[in-house]
Amino acid sequence: MTDLRHERMLIGGREVSAAGGRSLDVTDPATGRRVATVPRGGQEDVDLAVNAAREAVVHGSPWRTLSPRVRGDLLRAVAAAIRAQAAELASLEVLDTGKPVSQAAGEVEAAARTFDFVAGATDKLGGGTIPVGPGVLDLTLREPWGVCAQITPWNYPLALAVRGVAPALAMGNAVVLKPAEEASLSCLHLARLALHAGLPPGVLNVVSGLGEEAGAALAGHPGIDHLSFTGSVEVGTIVMQLAARNIVPVSLELGGKSPHIVLPDADLDKAIPTIVRSFVANAGQTCSAGTRLLVDQRIHEVVVEALVQALAKVRVGLPAEDPDLGPLISERQRSRVLTYIQSGLDEGLTLLAGGAPPTDPRLAHGYFLEPTLFDHTPPTSRLFREEIFGPVLCVTPFRDLDEAVRLANATEFGLQTAVWTQDVSVALHLAHRVESGLVYVNSYGVAENAGVPFGGYKKSGFGRERGLESLLGYTRLKNVAVSFA
Ligand code: ADP
Repeated sequence: MTDLRHERMLIGGREVSAAGGRSLDVTDPATGRRVATVPRGGQEDVDLAVNAAREAVVHGSPWRTLSPRVRGDLLRAVAAAIRAQAAELASLEVLDTGKPVSQAAGEVEAAARTFDFVAGATDKLGGGTIPVGPGVLDLTLREPWGVCAQITPWNYPLALAVRGVAPALAMGNAVVLKPAEEASLSCLHLARLALHAGLPPGVLNVVSGLGEEAGAALAGHPGIDHLSFTGSVEVGTIVMQLAARNIVPVSLELGGKSPHIVLPDADLDKAIPTIVRSFVANAGQTCSAGTRLLVDQRIHEVVVEALVQALAKVRVGLPAEDPDLGPLISERQRSRVLTYIQSGLDEGLTLLAGGAPPTDPRLAHGYFLEPTLFDHTPPTSRLFREEIFGPVLCVTPFRDLDEAVRLANATEFGLQTAVWTQDVSVALHLAHRVESGLVYVNSYGVAENAGVPFGGYKKSGFGRERGLESLLGYTRLKNVAVSFA
């Protein structure tokens, strides 16, 4: 194919191919066509990138010695560059992931806002003083870790990479980013764009490649000082072990199986479309997707009926048509989801909608799937407990609030929960009792904002992305005691 793009990675401010000369194919999930290649980086490339990042943060280097205000100005320039190239970035995101165009555009704007947010924080976060006694001034200093490694997933390639890269840079670290092999085009472009916006060479390095090659080389590298990982529990466990070899601290954002809890007094006109969006957006490939519906048995039938009607109106289509539901990322991912659907059928669950690819011939070559609804899903079911990462919602009725809480907490995950009720005291009661890092009341996703800390309980991980907490996570604390007696 003549118009195939051959991308390169950015290491130490230079655009390079993989040292071993190998590359990976990029496939458009909407058509199944090969559209580009990206370098298949390995140990040697990771070594070079980590060394370049080290150079950028050793004492006296331009990045380390910049005043926080100037660092902030540079990050603001990156935000402006993202906005100036929003169309290009969004089209790369669409090509790589198949997501609907408006969702891709939203993701690019979210990335720009993240840079804006952290840019404003560079000169505001500091340490404190501690009263230890007369004649002593005790100070805490917040210093950068040094080299921060980031391993990121394919579902929101740009936004999730920036969510880690931007605060790490803001606090004075250098970064080596390993984006997901399924979707690295936007991250490779980001690195070039940031360099042109004025970021010194070596401050942001991107090594594309496979998880078990470039990813494992980075996670276990003795030259990194901190590791952030977003992805599956399985791989999170592996990278944590690799980092442990060098006592490198980690921050993990893993999966979710987030429930909506719907009470009889819920405003269903608002709840139903929000619930549908929460598991259909990005084809359900979102760690915080609302994929379990716990509903009071008194309104179970009404709610299920309304959901079936709403799902019949979900537009499945090509990304350029800006549908509600685009393709999944790959054939592999779609067959994984179909295996879950089959397992639900084998368990005897009631399938109320979807369950198969759409019949529209225009969509025959992409990795599409109808939005899928299962009813009466017991907590013992795999579909209730495991993260499917596809547009599948499982309904489970409950008798009272205690049972609702038990069901909400009956998975290994604890990322997000939504409570639907008009009764403030019931909402707060549930908010206190659910084990999850975020709770929404009568909404879902309204706090998707650079300033709001995001992260999980239990196997959804630890550490917080976004917000001031994330910025603080990219610093380490030093105590300095000065005697002036
Ligand atoms: P997802 O469920 O999103 O596919 P994964 O956990 O498989 O998530 O992948 C998330 C990121 O982890 C990707 O960048 C992937 O390349 C990387 N990865 C996968 N396997 C490994 C590994 N063994 N070591 C380090 N990184 C890995």
